[in-house]
Amino acid sequence: MSRKFTGHKLIVATHNAGKVVEIAALLEPLGIETVSASELGLPEPEETGLTFKANAELKALAAATAANLPALADDSGLAVAALDGDPGIYSARWAETDNGRDFGFAMQTVEDQLQARGATTADKRGAFFVAALTLAWPDGHTETFESHFHGTLVWPPRGDNGFGYDPVFLPEGYSQTCGEMEPEQKHAISHRAMAFAQLLPACFEA
Ligand code: IMP
Repeated sequence: MSRKFTGHKLIVATHNAGKVVEIAALLEPLGIETVSASELGLPEPEETGLTFKANAELKALAAATAANLPALADDSGLAVAALDGDPGIYSARWAETDNGRDFGFAMQTVEDQLQARGATTADKRGAFFVAALTLAWPDGHTETFESHFHGTLVWPPRGDNGFGYDPVFLPEGYSQTCGEMEPEQKHAISHRAMAFAQLLPACFEA
């Protein structure tokens, strides 16, 4: 049995404003008030974990123990089968350039490595997005849920919607990349949506 959240207020342990809004909207119907880690002035811990789960737990625990309130954190990324799971937990880091984050550059790097390995046909270009979602309590207890969103990588990138690697990610069973889909459609099927769909019944009263 997972531990249930019984309070009224929760920290969203991210400094990403987009994620704060998305998570607050999901929790509002349950009567749960959210406050972000940045609003509380909490420092952003270094993501030293070697797995998505470890990083989500580390972020949620750091906030929960610092502010003495339960905290929710997520960690996500893209795992490419032909690249042995890369970029994985380093998905954001692959976009770092001297001029800041550039996901065009990150997508090109993934493509170059796929070409170098001869992964030119769809059957060799399988990939999945991963989302790990952790709810942590100040006493150190954690509940973590992980979800995978499967697809293949296309080249060149298609569509301007979404973020990160969305323009090269073609979800299984769909003809549009996540960059071409309407945001609502992606949000209904994504790795984050599926991780939330596990968390809500497990840790929150209906
Ligand atoms: P983090 O979870 O904020 O550390 O983000 C990890 C990185 O994974 C993001 O910067 C994106 O590059 C990538 N990523 C995670 N989820 C998605 C997604 O839904 N679409 C595209 N890229 C994603």
